[in-house]
Amino acid sequence: MTRELEISIGPACISSGYCRNHAPDVFVLKPPRRTVVRSNPNADSPEVQLALESCPVEAISATDVATGETVFP
Ligand code: SF4
Repeated sequence: MTRELEISIGPACISSGYCRNHAPDVFVLKPPRRTVVRSNPNADSPEVQLALESCPVEAISATDVATGETVFP
């Protein structure tokens, strides 16, 4: 079963866009220059994992909704 993630973006975000490019269904640009999570929870996927790992400033965190366990970082 696919786990569900609560994903959040911290204040370190510089709106580089990497996460949006990897997982556009999860991350979106909020004009003029803020990146936000569209909604929670989100199904884990290879695209989501790539997005989490791509952040150059480690601004993204994720927890498993079912267990409360930190999934990332
Ligand atoms: S990859 Fe990181 S810095 Fe870039 S937009 Fe996403 S959260 Fe912000």
